[in-house]
Amino acid sequence: MAAPNAIANAMSRLDLEGHDLPPSPAPSTPSNGRRYALATELVHTNVGDQHHAANMPIYQTATFHGGPGQQYDYTRSGNPTRTHLENHLAKIMNANRALVVSSGMGACDVITRILKPGDEVVTGDDLYGGTNRLLTYMKENGGIIVKHVDTTKLDTVKAALSDKTAMVLLETPTNPLIKIIDIAGISTAAHEASPNAVVAVDNTMMSPYLQNPLDLGADVTYESGTKYLSGHHDLMAGVIGVNNLALGDKFFFMINSTGCGLAPFDSWLLLRGIKTLAVRMEKQQANTMAIAQFLEAHGFKVRYPGLKSHSQYALHWSQARGAGAVLSFETGSIALSERIVESTKLFGISVSFGCVNSLISMPCRMSHASIDPALRKERALPEDIIRLCVGIEDINDLVDDLSQALVRAGAVTLTKDGFVAREVEGETGTTKQVVDEP
Ligand SMILES: *Cc1c(COP(=O)(O)O)cnc(C)c1O
Repeated sequence: MAAPNAIANAMSRLDLEGHDLPPSPAPSTPSNGRRYALATELVHTNVGDQHHAANMPIYQTATFHGGPGQQYDYTRSGNPTRTHLENHLAKIMNANRALVVSSGMGACDVITRILKPGDEVVTGDDLYGGTNRLLTYMKENGGIIVKHVDTTKLDTVKAALSDKTAMVLLETPTNPLIKIIDIAGISTAAHEASPNAVVAVDNTMMSPYLQNPLDLGADVTYESGTKYLSGHHDLMAGVIGVNNLALGDKFFFMINSTGCGLAPFDSWLLLRGIKTLAVRMEKQQANTMAIAQFLEAHGFKVRYPGLKSHSQYALHWSQARGAGAVLSFETGSIALSERIVESTKLFGISVSFGCVNSLISMPCRMSHASIDPALRKERALPEDIIRLCVGIEDINDLVDDLSQALVRAGAVTLTKDGFVAREVEGETGTTKQVVDEP
């Protein structure tokens, strides 16, 4: 499936002179002047090591000897392994500067620390739980005014914007509702209403491989490196990218002041994860698409921007190069959903996503359980919704695992024609035909 804007995206990446590229260790300009594709850049970094190390060494040290004027003196302020990662990420995120910190929420903290009492923040009503918690704390303790609005509606966002707007915080696609937010439209409106407003986009669900918010007019892109960038759920990291270097300096000031810069070992681990981002994402997306089609074909209401049935399909593909690897679907019954989630074997029950193995969860019972049920209802978060975060396993094994879980849970029936009919909705699950345990 090709993005309608694929050619436009490719053209926008042409940089014949190679002037406006970030200071990256990756070779950037082939002899014909064309910039390498992202999949290539992800893999190559010139280490420039004195011993010609093929991979960036881990500078596992807190201090560096020498006097003033040298590049590194103390790891809280800077470390070669972290710098190498930041320069590599800047290129991948189409940013002039990237900064890495100890978690995605750490990145959100660094970004929102530029706010002062009385500043207004316009943000979505379907945010990542941790972001919601941090903003609520700032509202209650920091004198920040936070306006949660339906960011899928440009007019609603415009109505909330004013010259007091200091920051607009967006996330797209949201999860688990998979709502798409118009990054370019809102960025333009925000800067019109308040020229100094900082538009920050949480790009965790897409990763820089599929979406580059800075190219769409955002001032800041940030994401949890814990998810797709790392890919293996073996580290926590947060990544921030900017084109405005003054803003980058402000964020660096916060990182140096609070000491949340990513540790050398985790920086090295993240560098390793990033190299396989393209292959992982391609495979995970292909698997997700197949599962989305499978579920939709069996009558479930599926939310996935790769499906034409997604009401914001066109908007998503106007700003992203892929649909990602998270989908959600409804079964019509909470008890049925619970049984499905408990019945899968390959899909592990877990919060989070972005890992090479597949995960399943019921957001209302897990990641979103802390949200008051009344508020969940107000935000139209269906209590029976199941979220799938699809990994790189063999697609037949995944579909098979899901099929068996659906049958075992009583969501579908096996007929003589095979796995076809969908069981009627209800709390009891009357299906009697259970497949053998594998
Ligand atoms: C996981 C996540 C975060 C927070 O990242 P951590 O690395 O867990 O701190 C922020 N936003 C989104 C969309 C996430 O999925």
